[in-house]
Amino acid sequence: MDITLDTPLRQFPGVGEARSQKLEKLGLRRCADLLSYFPRDYEDRRQMYSIRSAPLGQKVCIRAMAAEHPRLSRIRKGLELVKLRVVDQAGALHLTFFNQSYVERALRAGEEYIFCGVVEEQGSRRSMVNPIFERVGRQNFTGCIVPVYPLTAGISNHLLASLTRLAVDSCAKDMPESLPRGVRLDHQLAQAEFSYRNIHFPESFEALELARRRLTFEELFYLSAGLALLKNRRGDAPGQAVPPRPAEEFLALLPFPPTGAQRRVMEEISADMASGRPMNRLVQGDVGSGKTAVAAFAAWLAVKGGFQAALMAPTEVLAEQHYRSLSALLEPAGVRVGLLTGALAPAAKKKARQALASGETGLVIGTHALLSQGVAFARLGLMVADEQHRFGVSQRAALAAKGNAPHVLVMSATPIPRTLALIIYGDLDVSVIDQLPPGRTPVATYVVREDKRARMYNFVHKLVGEGRQVYIICPAVEENAEGRMQKAEWAEAGPALDLKAVTTYAEKLQKEVFPELRVAVLHGKMRPKEKEAVMAAFAAGETDVLVSTTVIEVGVDVPNAALIIVENAERFGLSQLHQLRGRVGRGKHQSYCVLITSTRSPEAMQRLKTLASTTDGFRIAQEDLKLRGPGDFFGSRQHGLPQMKLADLAGDMRLLQEAQDSARRLLLADPGLRQPENRPVLERVRALFADTPDIFN
Ligand code: ADP
Ligand code: MG
Repeated sequence: MDITLDTPLRQFPGVGEARSQKLEKLGLRRCADLLSYFPRDYEDRRQMYSIRSAPLGQKVCIRAMAAEHPRLSRIRKGLELVKLRVVDQAGALHLTFFNQSYVERALRAGEEYIFCGVVEEQGSRRSMVNPIFERVGRQNFTGCIVPVYPLTAGISNHLLASLTRLAVDSCAKDMPESLPRGVRLDHQLAQAEFSYRNIHFPESFEALELARRRLTFEELFYLSAGLALLKNRRGDAPGQAVPPRPAEEFLALLPFPPTGAQRRVMEEISADMASGRPMNRLVQGDVGSGKTAVAAFAAWLAVKGGFQAALMAPTEVLAEQHYRSLSALLEPAGVRVGLLTGALAPAAKKKARQALASGETGLVIGTHALLSQGVAFARLGLMVADEQHRFGVSQRAALAAKGNAPHVLVMSATPIPRTLALIIYGDLDVSVIDQLPPGRTPVATYVVREDKRARMYNFVHKLVGEGRQVYIICPAVEENAEGRMQKAEWAEAGPALDLKAVTTYAEKLQKEVFPELRVAVLHGKMRPKEKEAVMAAFAAGETDVLVSTTVIEVGVDVPNAALIIVENAERFGLSQLHQLRGRVGRGKHQSYCVLITSTRSPEAMQRLKTLASTTDGFRIAQEDLKLRGPGDFFGSRQHGLPQMKLADLAGDMRLLQEAQDSARRLLLADPGLRQPENRPVLERVRALFADTPDIFN
C-alpha cells in the first residue's frame, strides 16, 4: 500500500471504523497528523537481559527461544489463556497471555523472539504476563527507545506506536521543511525529516534532544512570528495623539509623592500616548506597588486631552473600589467618573450608557459589562485592563474595538518572568514597577497548624483592640465576574469535606469567638448590591473582621487591614496566596499573614514555607511555575494563545528568546512574509492561529 501524508488512518492496516473514530478523538485523521502527534515520554528498551539476569518488578526485554508450541485454553466464557515456555542458555521463562488467542498462531516453537514485560519470580520459577514480543531481526519496539503517547480509551500505546512507525517510515521524508534555511543554519537546527523520525523513534537520546530542540524551536518561532505580525499590523493603524501635560498637575492630586518607578512608568505612558501610534503597554508590578495611581494618570491624561477612558476590572468588588477611589481622586480635577457593571439596576445602567455615548462621562469604570453590545463611546481614547491575567487577548481586543484604535494599558500583579510576559503579551510593550512605596514593612508570614488556633484568635482580639481590621479567608465555591459558577482551584485538590464553609464559619466566629466584634461575611454568591455594601462598610472601618472567600484576592485595598488569616492554606496556589497576602501591609501598620493548614504532605508544607520566607512576588511566581506548572498563568487558555504541543512556555526560556529574536529579524526583512521563500512560514502561522480568529486572521 502506498502511504502519503494525506492517507486517511482508516486505510492503515489494523484500523477499522471503530478505531478510526477513537483516533479522531485524539485529533488523528490523516497520516500527517500522526507525525505531529508527539510522544509524552520514552521508554528505553535498548538493554537486553538473559532470563536469569533480568531484574524483577520492572519492564525489561529478554531474548529467548520458544521451547514449545503455545497452548490455548478457554477457562470460561470470555477468558482465554495462551501459555508457553521460552528458554535461553541458562534459564526458562513461563509466559501467560490473557485473551490474546492470536498468540497461539503468532509464536512458533524453535524461533527466537524478544519478550518485553515484567518478570515475576516464585521460588526459582520465573514468569511474565502479557509481554509484547517481536521476532529477532524484525524489531520495531524492542532493542530501541520507544515512544509513549498520550492515549484515549480503546487505543493502546502499542497500536499508536505501530501506526506511527508506518507513518514515519513512509512519510517522514515528505514532511515539508518550512523553516527558512537561514534560520535553521543560524540556530543549528536539525532538518525536518531527521526531527520527525527521531522525535518518535530516537536513535539515541542525543538524537532525540536535537529533534526536540528543532521542533520546539519551530513551534515557538511560528508563535513569535504570529504575534510579531499582529504587532506590526497594530502599529500601522494611526493612533489618537493625546497631547502631553505637565505631570505635576496630576501629582498634585495624589495624597503621596510617587515612587521613582511610578514616575518612570508614567513618563513611558505619556510618551506612548503622545506618539500618534496606539499604545499597547503592559504594566507589571507586584501587589501594593501602586498600579492604580499609574492607571489614574493615564486616564487623567486621556480625559484632559479630550478623550474618554475606560477601566475594566475583573470583579464587581474591584470595580466599585476603583470607582470610589478614582472619583475621589479625579473629580476635583474636573474628570467625570462613571460606573458600569452588570450589578446596576436597569435604569441606572441605561443612564450610565447614555452618559458614555454622549461623552458626558470622561472615565468609566466597569467589569465585563463594558464589553456588551449596547455600550458605545463618544470618543474612546484609552482603555485600561486591571489585573490582566483574568482577561483573554480577545476580550482586550473586544473593548479596544469600541474605539478608533484606542490606547491600551494592561495592569498585572502576577509577576510573570519577563520572557514569559513577552510571549504571552508578545504584542505589548512592558513596563515594570519594581519598587514599593516607602515605609512599608514586609508582611510577617507564619505557617501554623490547628493547635495554634486559640492563640491566633487572641491575636485577632489584640489587633482589633489597637484599631486594626482583619481578613479571614476560606476556600469556597466562587462566582466569576460573568456570574457563571466556577469551582475555585482548590476543588481539584480533593473532596471539600473539611473546608470551612464561609457563611457558617462566620456565624460561628461571631457567636462563639468574637461576640463583641463586628464580623461580616463576603462571598461570590451574594448579590452584587450586598457585596458592595459589605466592602464599603469594611473600607469605612465599620467592620472588624471580614470573613471572605477569595473574591478579595485581587486588588482590594483597605490600608487599615493588618492581618489576613488563610484557612486551608494548602489548597491555594502560591501566587494566589501572595495575592491574598498583598491585601495587608498596604498602610503604615506592621501587618501579618497567618496560613493555617492541617496538611500532612511535606511538599505542601514546603510550599507554604516558601511563601513565609520571601515577599518577592517574582520568586514566588517562579516557584509556583516549578511546582504547579504554568496552569496558573495559562489556565483554561484565557490568554487566547494557540496551544503548544512541545514547547513549555515556562521552561524553554532560552529557546523561546532565540525563536523570538529570529522571528523578529525575519519580519524586519520581510514585514508581510510575502517573499516566496517565506510563504511556508506564513502558512504555518495561519494554521497555528486558526483556532484563535480574534487575535489573528
Ligand atoms: P496595586 O499595585 O496592588 O494595585 P494599589 O494601587 O492598590 O496597588 O496601591 C496600594 C496602596 O499603596 C494604596 O493604598 C495606595 O494608595 C498606596 N500607594 C500607591 N502609591 C503610593 C506612593 N507612591 N506612596 C505611598 N503610598 C502609595
Ligand atoms: Mg490593583
